[in-house]
Amino acid sequence: MSEPKVRAKPRKKTKPAAKPLTASAKKLLKAVKGAMPKPESACRKVSREHELKRMEQILQIFKREYSEASCSLDFTNPFELLVATILSAQCTDARVNKVTPALFAKYPTPQTMAAAKLKDIEKMVQSTGFFRNKSLSIQGASKKIMIDYGGEVPKTLEQLVELPGVGRKTANVLLGNAFDTPGLVVDTHVGRLCRRTGFTEHTDAVKVEHEMMGFVPREDWTLFSHLLICHGRAICTSRRAFCEKCPVARFCPKVGVTLRDTLAAEDNV
Ligand code: SF4
Repeated sequence: MSEPKVRAKPRKKTKPAAKPLTASAKKLLKAVKGAMPKPESACRKVSREHELKRMEQILQIFKREYSEASCSLDFTNPFELLVATILSAQCTDARVNKVTPALFAKYPTPQTMAAAKLKDIEKMVQSTGFFRNKSLSIQGASKKIMIDYGGEVPKTLEQLVELPGVGRKTANVLLGNAFDTPGLVVDTHVGRLCRRTGFTEHTDAVKVEHEMMGFVPREDWTLFSHLLICHGRAICTSRRAFCEKCPVARFCPKVGVTLRDTLAAEDNV
């Protein structure tokens, strides 16, 4: 009788030993882990006192980091700031600053701007984009300032938002930077940063403004916007959040920041 055939057992594959991480890989891993967003729910379940303290700490760091933060539009009086702010919609401040010297030299007051030929204003501000609407707003606001306020730019939020082309954002820029009245400006940078840092979930600028007024001391409202704009341009950009080199990372829940964002940021370090 022949013996039953015994099948040879397949050899177990042994895993190759893992290579030890290099120093730079360890550094990258550590940075990525630190940059990982925490669950949003965990971030939001905190007391108001905790949030106020957190804001205080973030503000303190930003004031140190961006000690030069201020309005980046060039102006010498409230009327010039009004015009420059209208022009800055969907345009960089640097571009506006290139256009305004000639515009202000030719039309320095609400009176001269109101009497200008619309086509001429359009030509002068064309490079800022949306120039037809912007020209209409500038001239419309100038006319209203002449008719209703005797040539003086009004100083209250309620009056400012009645001017053509002036919304809360522009009005707050005027209040904070021309009239020394605290004004919390919410532009795209400020809105994005307020959400990522977990102080608001709103996307509507007016709602963000009201919510942030409850966290930021009144005397810091104007500066707060400048600080966040600086940080939004330098580190917490719309495309990528460079959390691994952010000075407020330990106080930030990084709401909505994905690992992909932070990893992508690593490529650029
Ligand atoms: S860069 Fe990251 S850590 Fe810094 S504020 Fe933005 S989301 Fe927060």
